[in-house]
Amino acid sequence: MVRLIGRLNLVSGGEISHPWDANAYLITGDEPVLIDCGGSEGYPALKRNLRRLGYEPGDVSRVIATHGHWDHLSAMAQIREESDARLFVHAADREQVETGDPDLTASFLYDRPFPPAEVNGLLEDGDEFPAGGYRFHVIHTPGHSPGSVSFWAEIEGSRVLIAGDALWGGFHPRIRSNLDDWSTSLDRLLAMDFDVVTFGHGPPDLIPGAGLNDARRQLGVYFNSWFEPFYNGSGGHVGK
Ligand SMILES: [Zn+2]
Ligand SMILES: [Zn+2]
Repeated sequence: MVRLIGRLNLVSGGEISHPWDANAYLITGDEPVLIDCGGSEGYPALKRNLRRLGYEPGDVSRVIATHGHWDHLSAMAQIREESDARLFVHAADREQVETGDPDLTASFLYDRPFPPAEVNGLLEDGDEFPAGGYRFHVIHTPGHSPGSVSFWAEIEGSRVLIAGDALWGGFHPRIRSNLDDWSTSLDRLLAMDFDVVTFGHGPPDLIPGAGLNDARRQLGVYFNSWFEPFYNGSGGHVGK
């Protein structure tokens, strides 16, 4: 578990729960909210991290998903066994979460099933939701997947962007990645001003918002090296 800023904590991630896990965040408060919840293999470690903050899975009121991929959301079915947490996803990634489609959830990359999870509400561009006394804003940032969203909130005087895989995520036709959409999404994020940024597989820390420029400049270049192994059939990790 890593305290990031204010009530925003990292509770899942490649370095703190399981190597396959994406970053997931707990916003503490009377009604704790998870942004993503990591993969099913990392669930025991996620629980330990929640406990370090004084919570059990049963305390979680909502899980708000950046998108419907295995490494971000496949622990949802296990959370459901221990809580009444409601799940919110963008409409474009909804069906795969409810069916567990191995391509669209990117679970084929991990050779594990994605346990289907009922979605209770949909996220749309411009939506806002309260968590931990902060106001989180939803930005639809398709490109990595059609239903990818990012969130931002002002926390302790800083504009914080939680980008999910919209920043530095992998590109693959099987997960319906779209370069044109992605360019537009990054241009939108660049036009906004963020003090600090965290993304789906980044370091367990906040980084300066100026890093968005690098991501924009390298879009279309940076994922090629990750992408290539899938074309020669030797596997790799594009689910980032
Ligand atoms: Zn992803
Ligand atoms: Zn990911």
